[in-house]
Amino acid sequence: MLDKASLKKIRRIMGKEAMLNTPADVALYGYDATPALDGVAPEAVVFPQRAEQVQSLVQLANQENFAVVPRGAGTGLTGGARPIHGGVVLSTQAMNQILRLDTDNFQVVVQPGVVTGDLQTRVAREGLFYPTDPQSLAVCTIGGNLAENAGGPRAVKYGVTRQQVLALQVVLPQGQLVRMGARTLKTVSGYDLVSLLVGSEGTLGVITEATLRLLPAPACRSTLLMVFDRVDQAAAAVAKTFRAGVWPSAIEFMDRHCIRCIEEHEPAGLPIDAAAVLIVEVDGSRPEVTSAAERVQQVMSEMGARSVQVAQSEAEAEQLWRARRSLSPAVAKIAPLKINEDIVVPLSTLPGVIDAIHALAARQKIKCVCFGHVGDGNLHVNFLADPSSQEEVARAEHAARELFALTVSVGGSITGEHGVGTTKLAYLGMEHAPEALAAMAAIKLALDPRGIMNPGKVLPDELLAKERGSGPAH
Ligand SMILES: Cc1cc2nc3c(=O)[nH]c(=O)nc-3n(C[C@H](O)[C@H](O)[C@H](O)COP(=O)(O)OP(=O)(O)OC[C@H]3O[C@@H](n4cnc5c(N)ncnc54)[C@H](O)[C@@H]3O)c2cc1C
Repeated sequence: MLDKASLKKIRRIMGKEAMLNTPADVALYGYDATPALDGVAPEAVVFPQRAEQVQSLVQLANQENFAVVPRGAGTGLTGGARPIHGGVVLSTQAMNQILRLDTDNFQVVVQPGVVTGDLQTRVAREGLFYPTDPQSLAVCTIGGNLAENAGGPRAVKYGVTRQQVLALQVVLPQGQLVRMGARTLKTVSGYDLVSLLVGSEGTLGVITEATLRLLPAPACRSTLLMVFDRVDQAAAAVAKTFRAGVWPSAIEFMDRHCIRCIEEHEPAGLPIDAAAVLIVEVDGSRPEVTSAAERVQQVMSEMGARSVQVAQSEAEAEQLWRARRSLSPAVAKIAPLKINEDIVVPLSTLPGVIDAIHALAARQKIKCVCFGHVGDGNLHVNFLADPSSQEEVARAEHAARELFALTVSVGGSITGEHGVGTTKLAYLGMEHAPEALAAMAAIKLALDPRGIMNPGKVLPDELLAKERGSGPAH
């Protein structure tokens, strides 16, 4: 619990206007976008503008033993920005500057609070391209993307956030302000701290600046909608597309429940009688795109697509992508409780896995809505339940456990992009051996011996306490 003296010290570091601590002001910061998690209000929320303020706050947290929870836009889907052990939420909202756009070296230096979509728009003005496109890009931040190693439809061709990062400035959990990585396309000097920090969900430090790689913007894009009467045909068409020598910039899957949700929520003209649709995007030079789009149409028809439509204008393509982006909120509308998982599996296993998911949902008598970035094997599986029925919620949770067992059995991972946060803590042991978890705990304890940096996320408190050989830090 922060006392008056600590709050005074925090206010001195941040400045009067950059700290909130009344219950009404901080309540909102107890939530993120994870469905059905109760709010846990922090004791204070701060809005630093400079890395040195972050550093001073983290040093104070070590001296006075309070938690620091970094927060971008709060769109995370696994509870990562919720201050479950109290303390201070550190919002990056006021660190939102694009510091340097280096067009000669195809690089941009940004503060963590820059909104992903704003960065894309800014670099596009120079004919450049920042490819990572989480479907929350209108609001989520680069800091949140780095901390979650966010992906999106285009990850299939351009990789996830990690692939775009050259260097970081980070305040480590004991308050050291360090630079890691280099302004070069490659480096092998020392351990790869950038890779350790990316995807660490705010538990190994606060990212205060990032140098990101840019690409020349593709000259041309084509977006196609494939309609299938059978889910297995749509799933099998994914690997077949790659085998035909085409590497699309996106392949998105939506099952029939998704199509209906979208059409009820914000009609986009999708066929409500279809079993599944794929949205495929190809990009490159005009001749490349023309030939790839033709090849995709041919493969999809061979694989049994009932119809193949090519968007005839940017506006038509945008309508398809808007429909895809509206999916998460549309599903949330029809289900008061949505257990939202984001497994990732090897491509060749997709048809069998999708089949098995529907079978396990039917066994548990749970409604299941499936969509995702199938081009890289990433499936968002949503089990819908009525929260007023404990028995139904238990069946949905059972279905989630079965889903993870299935995923791991085919060599997949329990989360492709949303991270562990708090909601997947109980399942980590299904994917990682005890020795691997102990190695992760050793890293956390070495960097954050007092356990002040976003405690309770990624690794269970009990595991850290066991490895520390003492009781929990908080
Ligand atoms: C409608 C919708 C669609 C989505 N689609 C996708 C998608 O396609 N792909 C995808 O990957 N995700 C998706 N997400 C999830 C979410 O948007 C991403 O995880 C995103 O990266 C979170 O960014 P944020 O700024 O909101 O971070 P927050 O939610 O605020 O924080 C997320 C985590 O990052 C940590 N963090 C934030 N900033 C920093 C920092 N500067 N330093 C250290 N740690 C930090 C926090 O402590 C927390 O653990 C979606 C979410 C929604 C609601």
